[in-house]
Amino acid sequence: NSHDIVCVGCGVKVQTENPAELGYAPASALEKESIICQRCFKLKHYNDVQDVSLTDDDFLKILNEVGQTDSLIVKIVDIFDFNGSWLPGLHRFVGKNDVLLIGNKADLLPKSVKHSKVINWMKESARELGLNPIDVLLVSAAKGQHIREAAEAIDEYRRGKDVYVVGCTNVGKSTFINRLIKEVTGEGDIITTSHFPGTTLDKIEIPLDDGKALIDTPGIINHHQMAHFVDKRDLKVITPKKEIKPKIYQLNEQQTLFFGGLARFDYLSGGRRSFTCYISNELNIHRTKLENADELYENHAGEMLTPPRTRQLDEFPELIKREFTIKEAKTDIVFSGLGWVTVNEAGAMIAAHVPKGVNVMIRKSLI
Ligand code: GDP
Repeated sequence: NSHDIVCVGCGVKVQTENPAELGYAPASALEKESIICQRCFKLKHYNDVQDVSLTDDDFLKILNEVGQTDSLIVKIVDIFDFNGSWLPGLHRFVGKNDVLLIGNKADLLPKSVKHSKVINWMKESARELGLNPIDVLLVSAAKGQHIREAAEAIDEYRRGKDVYVVGCTNVGKSTFINRLIKEVTGEGDIITTSHFPGTTLDKIEIPLDDGKALIDTPGIINHHQMAHFVDKRDLKVITPKKEIKPKIYQLNEQQTLFFGGLARFDYLSGGRRSFTCYISNELNIHRTKLENADELYENHAGEMLTPPRTRQLDEFPELIKREFTIKEAKTDIVFSGLGWVTVNEAGAMIAAHVPKGVNVMIRKSLI
């Protein structure tokens, strides 16, 4: 009912009975003007998260609800993890509603990359994935780039209707909405943002001036992302914060690159050639001969090849190999949530190794 008190951080209903359940706040907190649940409080002050997450079923339920409304759907994706953050199947839920596709984290792409080129790439990729967005935008919520443009586009395309913002966790949805609010009203952060996937719970409604609302929906966790396999402290290492500096490697056949101990790229055949790595600047890339690679991993995973951490090795999934033949020039091998390697010319044979459960795929080059 409308008297329920909700957390200003995540929108979940506040309760004072059970500390182990969602929305717990000590009774004393209820006297405050803006109430924040204990989970958001800890997140804000200690970066300490208790895992409470939405199940895939809950998420489908939300998408279903959104599909039955008459609204504009704003779908946010992480441009650094486009496919991993895509939300496959959304187009089946949207009904007659228009979808505005917004790529976030544009600040991570090298500055030399043309904005319009990335937008065209997103349009093409969206179509291939079955979605026909009314428009495609590219923003940086963290840096506030192109936010005004996004605010104007949302206002134009919603044509007096509500707006539902959807996106998988960690795409920067909260950061984006906070920016949007700041842009429109000048108010500060009202939604919890953090490093950790899965921190926005339940729906949050932000009133718009014509009586309609912008509704933030909870994100679904993308289980195939590398982020779930690293120690929380190492998220800083694999999540780029700044413009990615591409690293170019001239490789001979039968050479291997390790990305920390999280993934491995084997160049099998195709003559000497160059490969461009778009990976967090903080993650160490180690080059070796293919024939030594297995042994190197065996002996040095957790130390020289880190993350993962030594302590984690027992539970860290084994690396699974997938082979690819590169048929077209400018093809990316994408390691979900970690980055990608661009193969500049056609004709190479590649093997990519990722922890069991993490996605690896090829696509037409983004850059
Ligand atoms: P949500 O789970 O989708 O609500 O995502 P958050 O807003 O909590 O952001 C997830 C992570 O992405 C945080 O570490 C943010 O700092 C980071 N982030 C959000 N927007 C941007 C952006 O535009 N650029 C970069 N580089 N990082 C961003």
